Amino acid sequence: MKQRNLTRKVPVGNIKIGGKSPIAVQSMAATRTQDIEATVRQLNLIHDAGADLIRIAIDSKADVKALAIIRNHTEDLSINLSVDLQENYRLISDVAPLVEKVRYNPGHLHHHEKEKDISEKVKFIANTAFENNIALRIGVNCGSVDPILKQKFGKDDVGAMVESALQHAQFLDDLGFDKYVVSLKDSDWQKVLDGNRRFASIRPDIPLHLGVTEAGMPPEGIIKTRVAFEQLISEGIGDTIRVSLTLPFDEKGQEVTVAREILNDIYNGRFRSVPSNFGQGLNIISCPSCSRVENEKFIELAQQVKVMSEYAKDHDLTIAVMGCRVNGPGETDDADIGMWCGPLGVNLKRGEELIGHFGYDTVLSETKKILDEMINEIEPVKQI
Ligand code: SF4
Repeated sequence: MKQRNLTRKVPVGNIKIGGKSPIAVQSMAATRTQDIEATVRQLNLIHDAGADLIRIAIDSKADVKALAIIRNHTEDLSINLSVDLQENYRLISDVAPLVEKVRYNPGHLHHHEKEKDISEKVKFIANTAFENNIALRIGVNCGSVDPILKQKFGKDDVGAMVESALQHAQFLDDLGFDKYVVSLKDSDWQKVLDGNRRFASIRPDIPLHLGVTEAGMPPEGIIKTRVAFEQLISEGIGDTIRVSLTLPFDEKGQEVTVAREILNDIYNGRFRSVPSNFGQGLNIISCPSCSRVENEKFIELAQQVKVMSEYAKDHDLTIAVMGCRVNGPGETDDADIGMWCGPLGVNLKRGEELIGHFGYDTVLSETKKILDEMINEIEPVKQI
């Protein structure tokens, strides 16, 4: 096992990320932030499971109000809270006094105030973080990378993701803001490996947050994440981790226990061997849910899709099931069959073609029809 990269140490509440600090374990509340009771329960559960840092998604002023109440209710637990900002980056001035860290996605900064330069928006974010003495995460996702870089890099989507992270790290460096970490995520663990390796080879000084996003349900979601973490951590890459799993809300603590198990195994040299055909055949990706989820039936639907599609396991196809209309459309772009869930129904597409909007009770049979057509068109993969 290679010695860990000596990254900069970033204080986040009562923990430190990077340097020689232990690898921090994170998780995220899956409940609607404005459902205060459910979110407080969720934070308690994740905290009790041993998380070092917990993230909450904030999209509106109403979410910020809820966050203030949630913070009061959990003050005695000394939880380190992080907030996930979406397009409305200016919300950082409302949330920064309430949390220890904020994550922004560079790919979302072009949505608002299109005439304004991205570096100006980053300056606003960095100044607010500095004034409130909180940390930042530049959280790049391969699926939602800055459109200009996407065009520039074409098929090399990992290259675009790495360039975006490097560009934003440089923005923060130029502003003299060094309390930040970076993440480069995708639902494909191989892209996670590639992106983090490329970034760490250029900026070994910056702490990295590792994760395979939308990894799906256990056990497949755990295996994909484990493979990525085993490789990267044993190469000295990674300062904080999140295992992202689609789970019922009451079982969310599993993200933390699984993360600790993986770390423990890596430290003790217990690596799982990976068969050479791992990753072939049917791939189901599903998001871990967050405050934007619009109907809890989404989790049940993801489980039903897994059972229903078992007969297609030898076909190289990807089915994506996402919990909301905010990120769902973009995050299903690369899938052969994509679903994203709304309050009353589910949008279904085949490749890039929107098939329709179906009720939770009918979408499964519609999906099966498409799957039947697709497996008739492609040969199954050869099993070793
Ligand atoms: S797809 Fe939507 S609900 Fe699922 S994690 Fe992403 S933002 Fe949250």
